[in-house]
Amino acid sequence: MRSSLDDRLQSESPDNGGITYVSSHGNPDVDAQLRLLIDNVRDYAILTLDLEGRVASWNAGAERIKGYRAEEILGQHFSRFYPPEDVARGKPQAELEQVAREGRFEEEGWRLRKDGSRFWANVIITALRDGQGTLQGFGKVTRDFTERKLAQERLLQSEERFRLLVENIQDYAIYMLDPEGRVSTWNAGAERIKNYRAEEVLGQYFGRFYPPEDVARDKPQRALRVAAEEGRFEEEAWRIRKDGSRFWASVVITALYDPQGTLRGFAKVTRDFTQRKQTQERREVEMLRDAVLARDEFLSVASHELKTPLTPLQLKLTSLLRAVENHPEATLPVVRLARDLDVARRQVRKLADLIEDLLDVSRISMGQLRLDRSPMDLTALAREVISRYTPQAQQAGCTVELEAPAPIPGNWDRARMEQVLTNLITNALKYGAGKPIRVHVRMDSRLALLTVQDEGIGIAPEHQPRVFERFVRAVSERNYGGLGLGLFITQQIVEAHGGIVQVRSTLGQGSAFTVLLPQGLDTTLD
Ligand code: ADP
Repeated sequence: MRSSLDDRLQSESPDNGGITYVSSHGNPDVDAQLRLLIDNVRDYAILTLDLEGRVASWNAGAERIKGYRAEEILGQHFSRFYPPEDVARGKPQAELEQVAREGRFEEEGWRLRKDGSRFWANVIITALRDGQGTLQGFGKVTRDFTERKLAQERLLQSEERFRLLVENIQDYAIYMLDPEGRVSTWNAGAERIKNYRAEEVLGQYFGRFYPPEDVARDKPQRALRVAAEEGRFEEEAWRIRKDGSRFWASVVITALYDPQGTLRGFAKVTRDFTQRKQTQERREVEMLRDAVLARDEFLSVASHELKTPLTPLQLKLTSLLRAVENHPEATLPVVRLARDLDVARRQVRKLADLIEDLLDVSRISMGQLRLDRSPMDLTALAREVISRYTPQAQQAGCTVELEAPAPIPGNWDRARMEQVLTNLITNALKYGAGKPIRVHVRMDSRLALLTVQDEGIGIAPEHQPRVFERFVRAVSERNYGGLGLGLFITQQIVEAHGGIVQVRSTLGQGSAFTVLLPQGLDTTLD
């Protein structure tokens, strides 16, 4: 063994990469200084070996690291620093042969201390050649990297644990994209949420998780751009599972840059918030419904409260008025009192009507509009209402003409139909003052038709579609009083009867409201 190494050493040329140990160019002072340095360095085991591998010099660092004092180890073969399995494989000898050939050998591996314990060593062995290039021995520098090695292992372990953690998380899809947006890792949560197995999706562009309309708008690419520019991108939006179904996703994309500032890819964390969104939406709908219910209830309670004092007040005013009117020796002040009482009574009546409308609206919105049908004649009812409004018509300077060729029988709620007629006629008087009004009642292919037509201010085309909505008015309050409820109630009543109501109007020329009603005689139709 030794002789074969020697043979080979003889044949080595000096300039094959080997270095010369002595660099002091023979200056004895410098030599002494170097010796001192080497002897005293404690962080490095610095030793020399003779050609056979026996320890020839030993410094303080070597003693500290390996535990031998110089006198114990000088002349001993350096293979004792190696674990038995390395010695069995001839490793120490092979290393020297390599150094002789190539000038240098470096490795990290386990070595033995004197007490048999192991340490992780960084070892550099260098060929020592004299000025002629003849190999004189070996220099060996060893460092104890045990701490570093353990720290590295701990790091690796923690990285491994972290990887396992991420891989096994079920509630979050956690995966990475390369800078082009292709999937490069995939965890259990991603598989659970998106239904792709890793092998199906690795290397695929992540745009497949977006709905087609988002892909068409280039949204995936824009998300990556935002993440790359601002560090992160976050949103809640629809995403697509493998089977094409949608889920509501909370998404965070984080750009991953290396220390040099190069974009390495993106981390994506996605959560399935579908259920949460549904719960939230349900809650919102419930809240809205509760609010509407509360408002309707308020409207109902408030109108009842407002109405209660009005009825006795009206009765009192009426009886006072009668008492004053029947007073035989009425003097001027008494006549004026009668007139004032009448005005007050009419105001109370108006108030009562308004409140009645409000009550109707609240009944309608609570679904409590009930019809009390009975056989009746629409023509007769129209005639009755018109004659009741003769005084108001005169006051408004209107003539009301009824065109009704025949009785129109039907099975309707009489009080409600009276309300319809009243609303339409009072509107015509209000918005068509000073002009003639025509009420037309007729049958047309099994439908009862009622038209109230005026020649008044008319309704602008843009307002016409909305005049039947509650609280909607097409006029300013200053000129015309009202709450915007009459037509709403009218439409609700007509529709409850299975009919419809329409408006035709030209601004400045008048309006015609037409009610079309099934007769309601065939009960199976209702
Ligand atoms: P109100 O008359 O109390 O405002 P309505 O529900 O009866 O409420 O009518 C809604 C709106 O429709 C009115 O404010 C008015 O602008 C318009 N309108 C109703 N009838 C007529 C009509 N005959 N001529 C012109 N405008 C009308």
